Amino acid sequence: PVVTRFAPSPTGFLHIGGARTALFNWLYARAKGGRMLLRIEDTDRERSTQAAIDAILDGLSWLGIDWDGETIYQFARAQRHREVAEALLAAGRAYRCYASPEELAEMRETARREGRSKLYDGRWRDRDPAEAPEGVKPVIRLKAPLDGETVIEDLVQGRVAWQNKDLDDLVLLRSDGTPTYMLAVVVDDHDMAVTHVIRGDDHLTNAARQKHIYDAMGWSVPAFAHIPLIHGPDGAKLSKRHGALGVDAYRAMGYLPAALRNYLVRLGWSHGDQEIFSTEEMIAAFDVARIGRSAARFDFAKLESLNGHYMRNTADAELLAALEDALPYLPGGPEVAAKLDEPLRAKLLAAMPGLKDRAKTLIDLITGAAFVLAERPIPIDDKAKALLTPEARALLAKLADAFEAVEPWSAEALEQTVRAHAEDAGLKLGQVAQPLRAALTGKTTSPGIFDVLVVLGRTESVGRMRDQGH
Ligand code: GLU
Repeated sequence: PVVTRFAPSPTGFLHIGGARTALFNWLYARAKGGRMLLRIEDTDRERSTQAAIDAILDGLSWLGIDWDGETIYQFARAQRHREVAEALLAAGRAYRCYASPEELAEMRETARREGRSKLYDGRWRDRDPAEAPEGVKPVIRLKAPLDGETVIEDLVQGRVAWQNKDLDDLVLLRSDGTPTYMLAVVVDDHDMAVTHVIRGDDHLTNAARQKHIYDAMGWSVPAFAHIPLIHGPDGAKLSKRHGALGVDAYRAMGYLPAALRNYLVRLGWSHGDQEIFSTEEMIAAFDVARIGRSAARFDFAKLESLNGHYMRNTADAELLAALEDALPYLPGGPEVAAKLDEPLRAKLLAAMPGLKDRAKTLIDLITGAAFVLAERPIPIDDKAKALLTPEARALLAKLADAFEAVEPWSAEALEQTVRAHAEDAGLKLGQVAQPLRAALTGKTTSPGIFDVLVVLGRTESVGRMRDQGH
């Protein structure tokens, strides 16, 4: 059975590229009826933080990516990693190396001068441990093969080969007894019975070195799929200057998790020219073999339009629930959350069809809903003020009187009343509707004016008109 894993290092946030890696692992496991595991690689004690772990767990669940079994914490397994290093030592597949920092620096310098990529010259590989210098704590190094080549048949990259003479004897255990990243990853993937390692192609060379450890232990090597990293719109590796890197930032920009997930799945993977995928469709269609070999470029405009699509196609009540979930993270959201009661919720729900059509993000939704959220007397922007001439104000006062009596308070009845008033005054509908919009919303654009009236209700609408209509 297929077992995949997502193995983030908790040193910051859940990186958008990491989220895509997690998604691919998740989809592959789900597609194959397998399991996806989560391993937090917290071996770097200096840089790992609980806040970063929380951000990863939180980001994954926000995206709807779940994992099987308990979360595995790598640092807790250090004793097991040491045991494997000791076993390799006992089997003669590893050795103690006493080279001093000065010697290592010298070796690096020589390698640089001679243009060799192998930095360590293997000087303790076959040396008698009896020659070990007093008081020096050794590292444990793997006896890597000296000649021939190491080949990885990568599911994405194809056949990749390294000359063994270029790969040095990697350190398994540091002199303070802590395992290296390279050892920990291999031992954990083996113990977790991982069958498919899907990760960023920045780990491709690590795969060759990790294979040496598998081989030395006589363990079977998992299948590898090294996926190209995400690049920015300019083609350079995605970095801070391209914009947000953490998944939390996308939540704060008002994207729906389903939309972001759909965007991410298409980043480097394709299924014909299909752009929109439900979760089921994604799982059914996903295959590692269809991940492209070239870097995908992050396209913010595309993400935004995809999000707009998801917003328009989400039922009103569900979208309101999504908005409420997102409020703590959105600019101005906490203030909205603070005053969100049942009547206001009902108004937002009634306004939703008009609002979601014009919104690409949840932030747009809040901005569009400002007229619902505003309290009398509502703020009027300059463009709207310009529409509220003395004549317009007089008209609004008369219209407010008529609105007191309109029955029922419906878009149709209100439209009839407004049309009748416009005709009486010898004006076009728009000449009445524009100042009316200004008084009701404080802006010159809004959802349809009769919908606005219905959403606000009689008391609030008439009140806002009277605030201007004198
Ligand atoms: N912890 C590594 C990282 O965050 C990933 C290791 C792996 O997937 O093998 O880049």
